[in-house]
Amino acid sequence: MLPGSSVLRTYLSLLNEDPCGPKSGFGGPFSPSRVLPAHSTVFLVASDAILQRMALNTIIDEAEKAFPPEVLAIDARYFHKHVQHLPVHYTSIDTSRMSVAYFCLGALDILGILHTLTTEEERAGWIEWIYAQQIHPQTIDKAGAPSPHCGFRGGPFAGAPYSSHSSIPCNDFDSAHITMTYTALACLIILGDDLSRVNRDAITASLRQLQQENGSFCPNWGSDECDMRFLYCACTISFMLNDWRGVDVDRALAFIRNSQTYEYAFGQGPGQEAHGGSTYCAVASLSLMNRLDELKGRDQLIYWLLTRQVDGFNGRPNKPTDTCYSFWIGASLDLLGVYHLVDTDTLKKFLKSTHTKYGGFGKGPGDYPDLLHSYMGLSGLAITKGVPGLAELHTGLGLTARSMKHLNEKTVLSNTRAM
Ligand SMILES: [Zn+2]
Repeated sequence: MLPGSSVLRTYLSLLNEDPCGPKSGFGGPFSPSRVLPAHSTVFLVASDAILQRMALNTIIDEAEKAFPPEVLAIDARYFHKHVQHLPVHYTSIDTSRMSVAYFCLGALDILGILHTLTTEEERAGWIEWIYAQQIHPQTIDKAGAPSPHCGFRGGPFAGAPYSSHSSIPCNDFDSAHITMTYTALACLIILGDDLSRVNRDAITASLRQLQQENGSFCPNWGSDECDMRFLYCACTISFMLNDWRGVDVDRALAFIRNSQTYEYAFGQGPGQEAHGGSTYCAVASLSLMNRLDELKGRDQLIYWLLTRQVDGFNGRPNKPTDTCYSFWIGASLDLLGVYHLVDTDTLKKFLKSTHTKYGGFGKGPGDYPDLLHSYMGLSGLAITKGVPGLAELHTGLGLTARSMKHLNEKTVLSNTRAM
């Protein structure tokens, strides 16, 4: 028995007090699919396996004890539990269930235990569920133009029949969402799929129609919400598919340039206030397009990013610090090659204060955990490279080095990718 097991068992016994407990769930992000009971003895055995794996792979330095293996094991339990049972609080974002799956699977991958904790059968079932959310084109629409609806939807909320193989044609009421396409591709790569069933031509054709005259992207056909977030999603999709036919890069670059403010950080669009999230989207998009050398005011931007650190990071001047900016700001600094300028000891102390006894992170100290802040907190910790047991992260895409290797070597795109 490993020393951390008793701590883990204590936390497992707290399940009944967990505000995100499974009793009120409506199934995991991959529902309808196989669901395992979270209270089963199988779960306890699996938790011991996490500890063994982490103990074997990590050497704990005295200075790095803020997140020892027994604490990370509680995080593993938190994310694994949410793959199986989503609490009722997530019902309102059922249309975005794919991104919830990405937070869970991405976190388990960062923790290095996705393939230890889940079975091959489970992972195969999840891959099928993701492909069942793919929206294929009609042969040709009435005007003879390619469909703007293709990609992935966030879940089966629209009532389409479940099929991971047959082509379910799109319609105006069942349209893909650009963020769900991004997170679906990321999940497929994390799960070890070879992407052979991804309809690359249809996705790039739809992307082309989502790009606006000013270079930004809207998330789905008919939406008037066009900004830096969705431009970033278009870049991640194009990068993962190794196919940039869906993006007019010059127009995208112009939009990024026009969204830079007097502070040299980026807003969601031209004339909008600089913000940590949109700045990450702009910097990561430039990086994925391999155009970071076109960034203006690099030193001033680095200054703005570094001055976001108080203990953790905030997203704008005079705002409170927030767990998620440990990723948005940290990843931006990493992409600019200056992460070593961050005070990581203070950052880790802040993240320790937002980490919860249930596993996962809240937005701030004392807050209950949620999946977005839990994933971002863990990713922020991974960027510090100061917590043994956490995988190295590709900060432009939000995939681990292991998943990047799979993308580059084990997918149908491997032969066409030069990296
Ligand atoms: Zn936040």
